[in-house]
Amino acid sequence: MKLSVLGSCGPYPSKTGCLSGYLIETGGKKIMLDMGSGSLHNLTKVCDLDSLDAIFISHLHFDHTSDLLPFQYYLDVRKNPITLYIHESNSEYYKLLTGHPKFNIANINEGDVRNFGPASLSFFELEHSAKNFAIKITTHDTVFVYTGDTVFTEKLYDICEDADYLLADCAKPDNFNGSHAKLSEMFNMCKELNIQLLVTHFSPNTNPKKDFSSFKEIEIVEEISVYEL
Ligand SMILES: [Zn+2]
Ligand SMILES: [Zn+2]
Repeated sequence: MKLSVLGSCGPYPSKTGCLSGYLIETGGKKIMLDMGSGSLHNLTKVCDLDSLDAIFISHLHFDHTSDLLPFQYYLDVRKNPITLYIHESNSEYYKLLTGHPKFNIANINEGDVRNFGPASLSFFELEHSAKNFAIKITTHDTVFVYTGDTVFTEKLYDICEDADYLLADCAKPDNFNGSHAKLSEMFNMCKELNIQLLVTHFSPNTNPKKDFSSFKEIEIVEEISVYEL
């Protein structure tokens, strides 16, 4: 499994960082996890868009979805439909994001499992200021979890029990109060479960390498970095 980090900032970009977007390649298939602003541009640097099989959207916040809008202009010229794993909503914004006829909408709900080539995708609702789903990608030798945006909850222990890698929204210090996890919380769980923690969702006003230098064994993910998982 290969992970390309195409945007790891939020909720707005920094000079060096675009918003949430990650490409996973596994078993000859490609899926984009979230599509925040700037991530689509970075995607074109690492992937021919025609070869993209699917997109997963964790939740409807702008920093995870906004590049789905210009992506629809690309769909006008794309030959084949593309699968969009997303939780259905009645909101106008959802309709705007998903209205293109070449989106093959795959509605996701808690506990759903879908085949993706030789891999399986499963989805779990977490706690955030918008309805948010984590995705777990399981292959014969690797289990990868991406949280989307979430506070830390005990449910993450169940989801991540058999995981090798956790890409987590947790770039927050202990004094942070809001609907994102603190680094120490994810760090402690990953240590306990023996999972490699990949930290993401950096505020533009932070210096993660400096701010989190006391945490060993974590990986601060930046664009465009590529990991063989
Ligand atoms: Zn976010
Ligand atoms: Zn969010």
